[in-house]
Amino acid sequence: MSYEAKSFCTITCDQPGCDRHLSDEWDYGEIGWYPSMGHADEAAQDNGWQVKGDGIHAKHYCPEHHYAECSDCGCLELGTRDTFEREGWIDPDVEGSAICPDCAKRGEGR
Ligand SMILES: [Zn+2]
Ligand SMILES: [Zn+2]
Repeated sequence: MSYEAKSFCTITCDQPGCDRHLSDEWDYGEIGWYPSMGHADEAAQDNGWQVKGDGIHAKHYCPEHHYAECSDCGCLELGTRDTFEREGWIDPDVEGSAICPDCAKRGEGR
């Protein structure tokens, strides 16, 4: 057999309406193709993507569509890291310990 097929994978943003692909460049570069889903997940995290969940059920969000979920009140917000920082989120990227600005304020007053 003279042909050998190899499969590669890339990651696209799971946000409806966004068709951004993972690329090696921070900004719209060439689409990055990776030898396995694990490699792709690593590259995604290195490039500021948000990876929620594991394996084939994982969801991926490009740097413009990050979700922060408050571990206190459970509210969900869509934004970028900059938005979250500006609004006063605590650890927006850390699943299970993110705190929304409202709860952060309430915590201070305690
Ligand atoms: Zn996106
Ligand atoms: Zn909250």
